[in-house]
Amino acid sequence: MGDCPGLIVLQPVLHNNIWGGRRLAEFGYELPDGPVGECWGISAHPHGDCVVAAGPYAGMTLSQLWSEHHELFAGAEGDRFPLLVKVLDACDDLSIQVHPDDAYAAEHEGGSLGKHECWYVLDAHSHGQIIVGQRAKSREDFALLVEENRWHDMENLVPIKAGDFFDIKPGTVHAILGGTMILETQQSSDVTYRVYDYERRQADGSLRELHLQQAMDVIDYAATAPVTGEVTAPEVDGITQLMSCEYFDVLRVRVHRDAPVVLPQPHPFMNLSVIEGSGAVETEAGRWQLAKGNHLVAPCGCGDLRLSGEMTLICSYVPTKEG
Ligand code: ZN
Repeated sequence: MGDCPGLIVLQPVLHNNIWGGRRLAEFGYELPDGPVGECWGISAHPHGDCVVAAGPYAGMTLSQLWSEHHELFAGAEGDRFPLLVKVLDACDDLSIQVHPDDAYAAEHEGGSLGKHECWYVLDAHSHGQIIVGQRAKSREDFALLVEENRWHDMENLVPIKAGDFFDIKPGTVHAILGGTMILETQQSSDVTYRVYDYERRQADGSLRELHLQQAMDVIDYAATAPVTGEVTAPEVDGITQLMSCEYFDVLRVRVHRDAPVVLPQPHPFMNLSVIEGSGAVETEAGRWQLAKGNHLVAPCGCGDLRLSGEMTLICSYVPTKEG
């Protein structure tokens, strides 16, 4: 008891997108009018800085907490909260796009971070598909396919179902296609190079900008495209490690009535997002009710997270650097 910090519950920021729908209401969010594509559930990015919903820091933004109460993230490096967690409702296809890595973004995007992202599929059509990877082996090949409008020869389509997971490294051509809901964990970056947008017009009749030159600069032509998003990692006491890279580790945590989960939290911070069901989380500092659509940050030193109820969460944290 005593000094143990409580959990930080965040208010999500909702964004209108031309490819969005209305299904984020299923997560309990109050939607603005029009198509809504993105819920930024855990974000300190200037394009959507989440406000703390309750507790001693209520009303502060996550970016303010990072700079003014860094003890909550003790040991975390960098000048900004490094991760961004979104829930996406793709009613229509997203543009075919690619993101830069840190080095390219720092040089060409005013010091922005690059964008390594990953997707946990929440829901998909029965014949759902997604684009991850491309087939051109060189910049010249790619330019030719684009010039000849041969998108189907370029894109690597993968069948998807709920529960699949994809690691989208910088330089990987990708697109979430209509009828898909996804939880995305990514570096806190908003740099997207659009390769193709289906000649789709915005509400004002204009086309969204494409960024072919930058895209061709950053595409990894040697990468192997995946054929499936099936999760093969083992589940141990309700916890499955979905991926680990230098920027983030991502876990799926499944809690059942007869199988509560104790999730250790030894990291500078841990993000938690409830994607299904409801329950509660208890720490030495208190108890919080949880339901689908809730997003929270477990700060440094909060101790074990004791999860109960019937629910599934996606959690992420920045791995400790070795050596
Ligand atoms: Zn992306």
